[in-house]
Amino acid sequence: MKQIQVHYAELSTKGKNRQYFQNKLATHINYHLSFLEEKVTVRPRHDYLYLEWEHMDAQPLLDILKDVPGIARFEPVYQVELSMDAIEEQALALFQKLDLKDDDTFRIQARRPNRHFPENSMAIQRQVGSSVGQAFPQLSVDLDHADHTLVISVQKDGAFMSVESYPGLGGLPYGTSGKGLLMLSGGFDSPIAGYQMMKRGMAIEAVHFASPPYTSPQALDKTKRLTARLAHFGMPITFIEVPFTKIQTTIKEVIPDDSSMTVMRRMMLRIMERLAIQRESLAVINGEALGQVASQTLESMYVINEVTSLPILRPLIATDKNEIIEIARSIGTYDLSNEPFDDCCTVFAPVQPHTRPKLGAIEKLEERLDVDALVEEALAGITLETIAPDDESNSHTNLL
Ligand code: ATP
Ligand code: MG
Repeated sequence: MKQIQVHYAELSTKGKNRQYFQNKLATHINYHLSFLEEKVTVRPRHDYLYLEWEHMDAQPLLDILKDVPGIARFEPVYQVELSMDAIEEQALALFQKLDLKDDDTFRIQARRPNRHFPENSMAIQRQVGSSVGQAFPQLSVDLDHADHTLVISVQKDGAFMSVESYPGLGGLPYGTSGKGLLMLSGGFDSPIAGYQMMKRGMAIEAVHFASPPYTSPQALDKTKRLTARLAHFGMPITFIEVPFTKIQTTIKEVIPDDSSMTVMRRMMLRIMERLAIQRESLAVINGEALGQVASQTLESMYVINEVTSLPILRPLIATDKNEIIEIARSIGTYDLSNEPFDDCCTVFAPVQPHTRPKLGAIEKLEERLDVDALVEEALAGITLETIAPDDESNSHTNLL
């Protein structure tokens, strides 16, 4: 049997809810495992979660685990029979597989919960350490800061050994922090905002405001592909398209150019609030960063936010653009966001939007619109689609 031991991130504070978090993590991992050829068993236990299987190489499993929220780190563990010969043989095989540099250091850490095993942990460490040292003379021992640590745990049913440890994403298991509606444009920021909340355990649905024919089918397709990339870090995501053309053309007609952006954003949020009720979500997520553009000054956010009491989560509020770009590159949204198709905000962008809109003035201007009717009409035209992770070909939409 082959095994990977998964260390939970941040579960020590969860008390009685611990099992709920563990099961959510298992469900998420199981979803991604379901695309593999071989059956892999997931066993959530109190201290660790285990993946167990028979034949395949560990690499596809490592590739899955590195992008699953709620994991601190994970380690392939090899089980051998209870004898010093078997342990030493496996130790050499494990070091053989490592990419060893000339002055690397190593150490052996042995535990012996199985007291029937004749050698104690000190003796195991000494004996295995000396055969590794002989087989790999370029290595020296460092008990405090070794480059390679071989962990040996001698248990009832065998000795479990691991020498590689991989960092996980951290955060909380997907879906343990409720559900948020992500306002997803085709830009760089909003996908990262969604990713940050997913990493923190929030399930998301993606809402995109589209203004055909002013915005292209390619722009819509781009946001769907961004959604598929985000789903890679979670489960299939519901994509909600809101028809926004009528609202934007009406605003263009009756609202002065310098206030149109503020009014447009307020219309978006009014629709988001209604969608949140429909979709049983308690929060809206967007990609705003303080001061980045005219609609993201404190004065703008105050006036826009005023239409709803729903929490608006802005995970990027204090993040610089270059940090956002760095995350976009690391999670694979950069190239998609970089595609040149304009979304509705760019197409209808005013030449000189107010950076300090006044609430009273905006409310007065909005009297020129039939706000309720416009909101109802947009809501009546929404379409829903389930989008599977982009690297999994058979979309298991029925698993939602
Ligand atoms: P992004 O890079 O995410 O587009 P941005 O810096 O271009 O953000 P804005 O265009 O002002 O900023 O948009 C601010 C936020 O409003 C976005 O991060 C996104 O959450 C939301 N948003 C903007 N346009 C749309 C849209 N067409 N559909 C859904 N949400 C949108
Ligand atoms: Mg944008």
